[in-house]
Amino acid sequence: MTKEQVKQLFSSITIWRRGDERAPHKPLLLLLALAKVQHQTQWISYQEVKDRLGQLLLEFGPPRPTSAIDPFLRLPNDNLWKLSVDSPPFRESFLLQNEVAGGFTDEIYSLLAGDPSLLKELAEALLYQHFPESVHEDILNAVGLKLEFSPETPRDLSQASRASRDPNFRQRVLVAYEYSCAICGFNVKLGTVPVALDAAHIKWHQFGGPDVESNGLALCSLHHKLFDRGAFALSYSDGDYIMKVAQQAYGTSGFDEWLLRFHDQAIRRPQSPAYNPDSSFTQWHWREVFREPSRYTSA
Ligand SMILES: [Zn+2]
Repeated sequence: MTKEQVKQLFSSITIWRRGDERAPHKPLLLLLALAKVQHQTQWISYQEVKDRLGQLLLEFGPPRPTSAIDPFLRLPNDNLWKLSVDSPPFRESFLLQNEVAGGFTDEIYSLLAGDPSLLKELAEALLYQHFPESVHEDILNAVGLKLEFSPETPRDLSQASRASRDPNFRQRVLVAYEYSCAICGFNVKLGTVPVALDAAHIKWHQFGGPDVESNGLALCSLHHKLFDRGAFALSYSDGDYIMKVAQQAYGTSGFDEWLLRFHDQAIRRPQSPAYNPDSSFTQWHWREVFREPSRYTSA
């Protein structure tokens, strides 16, 4: 098997899809397995997958009940994964009692173990295909994978999804919000250049969110991260977008000042109504990213 064939197998892993719903189970399991390869380990027990993938799905998956057994048992169909037991029954108790493990096939394992740059390329592709950049580092830390990110634009196996991105998106969104965070108004410049201010996609481009102002929000780095992790979302009410903080988000230092204080408040409007967020995008974010339910609404 060649490098190109491995890349092909990775890029064509069949992801269960229903419309634009997120299903990051297989990508997260593969990232976990790539981290194992980095530690010279081919196998990962179902017990560990259950514990760690379960936690990863809670943190980075959609806000729906999920299980680790599906990706673990279905990944062999994608020809890059094998199990320590042939066709085990689809029963968690069996997998646990018999200490069933899974891992890359021998051929793929030795290719990956002998080629760190291939491993890095595959991991980056999985990240770019399924998650916004603001959470890549969090995921790498959570799975225990060490990649040195190169300064040049990282490559993606599905070139199409990146090729279609508009390089002017950031600029247009920042102009729409007059170079200030839509939540807190942060607008620090270093010389003439705004710093720590991003153009966030409301509906992730990985799931078809377009590069248009109505799918963008100018957010400071902190609110961008919190938005992409689902700590808050937007709900439409009487012409305004209202910021809603998740019940699961809490804290002491900084929590009131940077999150709770904005709960139930309208976000700053863009300079033209033509740039208002589109509710189909905010609804997608609420459904697929936000850690429901939201905190109590006093109104
Ligand atoms: Zn902010």
